[in-house]
Amino acid sequence: MSKNEIENKWTQPLIEWFLINKRKMPWRDAPSPYAIWISEIMLQQTQVSTVIPYFTKFIKKYPTMKHLANSKEDDILKMWEGLGYYSRARNLRFAAKSICDNKKEDLPENYHELLTVKGIGPYTAAAIASIAYGEEVPVIDGNVLRVFSRYWDFDNDISLQKTKNWLFEQLSPYLKEGPPSLINQGMMELGALICKPKHPMCSNCPLSTSCLALKHDTITSRPVKKKKPPVPHVNIGIGLILKGNKILIAQRHTHQMLGGLWEFPGGKQETGEDIEDTIIRELKEETNLTVEIDTYCCRVNHTFSHFKITLHAYFCSISKGVAKPISSQKIRWVPLENLSKLAFPTANKKIILEMRSALSKT
Ligand code: SF4
Repeated sequence: MSKNEIENKWTQPLIEWFLINKRKMPWRDAPSPYAIWISEIMLQQTQVSTVIPYFTKFIKKYPTMKHLANSKEDDILKMWEGLGYYSRARNLRFAAKSICDNKKEDLPENYHELLTVKGIGPYTAAAIASIAYGEEVPVIDGNVLRVFSRYWDFDNDISLQKTKNWLFEQLSPYLKEGPPSLINQGMMELGALICKPKHPMCSNCPLSTSCLALKHDTITSRPVKKKKPPVPHVNIGIGLILKGNKILIAQRHTHQMLGGLWEFPGGKQETGEDIEDTIIRELKEETNLTVEIDTYCCRVNHTFSHFKITLHAYFCSISKGVAKPISSQKIRWVPLENLSKLAFPTANKKIILEMRSALSKT
């Protein structure tokens, strides 16, 4: 973009557009710092429509910081089940406990102090500081990066931190031109509803008369973003070990991905290994059990942000050993009807459904 081409009068049209077109969201009804915090954490990597029912349930059960601080980790994880990125839930609870332990009842009231709270990064701190406290600090997320890479037609790689820092500096002065809450929410909402990644709806855009990418016909090449490497795929062998009406489950260590959640024991397939051999090896390594493979149960695919997995689940029986939690924090024999009371990762929940269906046929 050339400097004299930059149009500076975008905040008022954006605010006017936002006030008319903003979507109804429960955390917008009464934007307390606590509610904004919970909603912004849930919204990380997750769509608004997915978050709304989780948020409503969460706020009903934990309406204040104190309620969250006094919660049990298992209950929080159960409530988070299906939302993914479970460290977000653990961090929320940890932060609430720290705040209450320090005799405070709410979050710090400015951007820089918010950054000291566990789980709060620059984007979330800016969202809370501007929406709840009116601080003049811009939110920089994927939507805002895309909108401004088009509006100002810049070709900096938006996946680079230096581009995010640069945009933060560029946008900061504009936050003085209107309520920061409305400017920030307007930028994000415009990116979500109008300036979409694939088919921006320029004819409905409040910034179209001064958008440089529209003027230069460069929209399809904005934003510039480094291509991601191909997503790796991992096969995982899972053992379903039944003892009467009970099944063996293990709880993941807190420091692991999906920490604190329950799962069926198993692990990664090694190169050149049959999946049945993976299950036998992993169950020995993880639970001290020597098992035999009985029958195939199901195969479940799941995609995380950085890799894909296929879980291969087999019914197994113990030929030797007593179950021990070698690589998990706990193991437990649980009645099948109680599985729904515990928090499992989404892929394991799919296995539970398949397993119930298989067992109902035997
Ligand atoms: S005019 Fe089109 S490309 Fe420009 S900001 Fe609006 S929606 Fe995005």
